[in-house]
Amino acid sequence: MAATPCYDLAIIGSGFAGSLLAMIARRLGRSVVLVERGRHPRFAIGESSTPQADLLWAHLARRYGLPRLLPLSQWGSWQRHYPHLPCGLKRGFTFLHHTPGEPFGDSPSGSRAWLVPVSASAEVADTHWYRPEFDQFLVQEARELGAEYLDQTHLEAVRFDPTGATLRGCREGRPVVLRAQWLLDASGPRGFLHRALSLPDAPPSLLPPTQALYSHFREVGRVADWECGQGIAPPPYPPDDAALHHVFDGGWMWVLRFNQGITSAGVALTEPLARELRLAEGAPAWDRLLGRFPTIQRQFAPARAVEPFYHTPRLAFRSGRVAGPGWLLLPHAAGFVDPLLSTGFPLTLLGIQRLARALATAWGTSAFATAVEAYARATVAELQAAERLVAALYRWLHDFPTFRELGRLYFAAAECGERAVRQGDGELPGGFLLHDHPRFGPAAEDCCRIALEGETGPARQSRAARARLAAAVRAAVELIAPPRR
Ligand SMILES: Cc1cc2nc3c(=O)[nH]c(=O)nc-3n(C[C@H](O)[C@H](O)[C@H](O)COP(=O)(O)OP(=O)(O)OC[C@H]3O[C@@H](n4cnc5c(N)ncnc54)[C@H](O)[C@@H]3O)c2cc1C
Repeated sequence: MAATPCYDLAIIGSGFAGSLLAMIARRLGRSVVLVERGRHPRFAIGESSTPQADLLWAHLARRYGLPRLLPLSQWGSWQRHYPHLPCGLKRGFTFLHHTPGEPFGDSPSGSRAWLVPVSASAEVADTHWYRPEFDQFLVQEARELGAEYLDQTHLEAVRFDPTGATLRGCREGRPVVLRAQWLLDASGPRGFLHRALSLPDAPPSLLPPTQALYSHFREVGRVADWECGQGIAPPPYPPDDAALHHVFDGGWMWVLRFNQGITSAGVALTEPLARELRLAEGAPAWDRLLGRFPTIQRQFAPARAVEPFYHTPRLAFRSGRVAGPGWLLLPHAAGFVDPLLSTGFPLTLLGIQRLARALATAWGTSAFATAVEAYARATVAELQAAERLVAALYRWLHDFPTFRELGRLYFAAAECGERAVRQGDGELPGGFLLHDHPRFGPAAEDCCRIALEGETGPARQSRAARARLAAAVRAAVELIAPPRR
């Protein structure tokens, strides 16, 4: 009987992370098998990129000799090189705050809108990735670089021994046996290794439990067309060419437009509101939610879902272990916080950057396992930093000025990180959200702590709590402000 070939790496899951890592590993000379349970093109959620994610993407493409990926880091070059691959234009982050039963736009001061431009023009703008075709393209690229690809493969068991791992499963009714020195799990939250190794859960301690409901739609209206748009005038960019967030007490909704007429939209709701709306029911729950917010309802009045509604009963997740001898979880398999602020892509790309460095410098030596341990520690610390900030924002969803104040921590840290990545060698000093920055890290953590204490006691004390928080955020942001000329 022929011996089972032993790959250097078996990567489980061909989302963008699995395929990108497979490409980098091939460029570094590793043999790779990429195993997918589904078949491309397939629906996938997680679509909105950020300046930091795009910089990291471009950096990885340059450093590891993947020039065909480089145009995907900006809207303009994407349109020129891959016009057939759908994507969305993201000029910034648009936040609109809603009160149940009231049309948006009552406020002439625009205090219920916050538009954060993050790119100077459409040419250099970020994008939303239409994952069915984006992920399919990446898998194809990985195959062309020599990664073995097995789709529609149902993995059933894994066994480790001193020289590697054996995966067993079936494909098209036939048994499959794969051997690899290392297993890299990119199969997402509660994924293959988390279950196969019965890893413990480490549920978020700061973030309230949330549920999600989402789908893809056609004919979604544009907020720029609302006559109440004077509340957000003059916009620094077309407010729909963005990650549009409808924010309200108890949750928020994302609206991401792609250039082929499809719009991704979904909600993340805290448990009481999700239960009240019976979110698990899907489409009827979506309609109940729209019924609460007249202006969002108007935006979706002409819309029709072109995918089923997907319900996630528990959105946030963290695995109690991220790596062990011969295996590791990629960031999205290790944990997920919330789509708010689009933290998933940068976290994933930072993880891939660390793993790529370890593969390039330490493969085949005992230093590789040490580098993997460091990767695991950094992944946990970054997920915790993301959770802290998102939990603080959730605490103030009802109070838009304070929500907005806290959000400045994210944008200041992101901008500072982008400056460092641009000026340096592609590394992000201080880690995600600069949580490891000697001064900003503790200051931002302090802001989150104050925010999570929330409003206490009578109105006077609440006002004092808000003022204390605003002062703390101002001081933290000042620590990383660009030098004044
Ligand atoms: C509701 C929601 C909205 C989000 N929105 C954003 C956003 O706007 N911006 C952002 O930055 N991030 C967002 N994220 C996070 C984002 O989805 C992830 O960062 C991103 O998808 C990570 O990519 P990945 O390739 O690691 O995992 P995934 O995209 O989850 O891909 C996992 C792959 O593994 C395959 N797989 C699963 N199980 C197995 C198995 N047992 N065997 C083989 N294959 C398997 C799946 O079929 C899939 O192809 C969101 C997440 C959620 C849940």
